[in-house]
Amino acid sequence: MSNKIPFNKPFIVGKELYYIAQSVLSGKIAGDGLYTKKCNSFFEEMFGARKVLLTHSCTAALEMAAILCGIEKGDEVILPSFTFVSTANAFYLRGAKLIFVDIRPDTLNMDETKIEQAVTDRTKVIVPVHYAGVACEMDTIMAIAHKHSLFVVEDAAQGVNAKYKGQFLGTIGDIGTFSFHETKNFISGEGGAIVINNAKFIDRAEIIREKGTNRSKFFRGEIDKYTWVDIGSSYLPSDILAAFLYAQLENIGKINSRRKRLNDFYSRELIPLANDGKLQLPNIASECQSNYHLFYIILEDEKTRNALMDYLKSNGIFAVFHYIPLHISPVGLSMGYSEGQFPVTESMSVRLLRLPFYFDLKQEEQIEVTESIKKFFKNH
Ligand SMILES: *Cc1c(COP(=O)(O)O)cnc(C)c1O
Repeated sequence: MSNKIPFNKPFIVGKELYYIAQSVLSGKIAGDGLYTKKCNSFFEEMFGARKVLLTHSCTAALEMAAILCGIEKGDEVILPSFTFVSTANAFYLRGAKLIFVDIRPDTLNMDETKIEQAVTDRTKVIVPVHYAGVACEMDTIMAIAHKHSLFVVEDAAQGVNAKYKGQFLGTIGDIGTFSFHETKNFISGEGGAIVINNAKFIDRAEIIREKGTNRSKFFRGEIDKYTWVDIGSSYLPSDILAAFLYAQLENIGKINSRRKRLNDFYSRELIPLANDGKLQLPNIASECQSNYHLFYIILEDEKTRNALMDYLKSNGIFAVFHYIPLHISPVGLSMGYSEGQFPVTESMSVRLLRLPFYFDLKQEEQIEVTESIKKFFKNH
């Protein structure tokens, strides 16, 4: 019996613990301390983002986005069903009607050719989700948004440091959102950021994030007292988390090249099985620069996927799948959606398998994973 290879493992790459100590010793560990500001500036300068504010999660950033877009009961939001629940919940919380569209079989991103037929006079926002750190067809999506005067909120939870035609994901739409959850590329345990590209949202974003007060302006000395001016919540993280994150950002290139190496190894080892028609590998279009967020394979059918998953597990290797399509979740069904409406989403959901993928994954471990997969297909 081999050692266990987990699906994910949080990692330290530089001065994380030192910066946490620095943050504590600075005497300010609440939100918007020294390291939060360093992280915000890092993204603004490195990614060319107009305004970046750390949040305690990508979920929080998406909730802020829904408020900023002015979502009211009955407004329609177009999004994929194949995504994490927060993409939907953030808008559903504000009373939006969710209009799901199917995904493309090659990238598992929202199928841009299905968006325009979903637009009505109640549509307010399109939410492309950059699956696995590979961009959606943003030129098409932005053109549809301009034509119909819609906002675009990019869920770039998985797309931090990835690009589309040279532009960083999250900086293309009106708003972008990032995640630094421990399963993502750059981590702080829980964490996220909202990227504001449409300048008209900047002032209100600061207010919503600070409990509906104009405290950010007060701290900058722009006003002499702060007060309740709008709806809002507490969306800012402790500076201790920002300290951890900043050390990761200082090593953004190192993290990216390690992930590329892990990705290329899996690809290289599994191409023969793909050529034999046993499985399908991810596709990265030439205009997309991936951040190698995750590595997935698509199996022939659900039975093969589950058998392979069980086989790997019996060898101590933890491979997982996602997502249960939102339209056939209990909440999706309660909205009137039903099985069969989004065939690509439903098919991919039962055939997809994610392989162990994390910064500290060793080459011996990767070999164990790929050899196990080959052995499975030899006997299958
Ligand atoms: C991880 C993820 C989120 C949620 O991120 P949190 O930081 O955990 O709130 C949202 N959307 C997508 C597509 C994700 O992968």
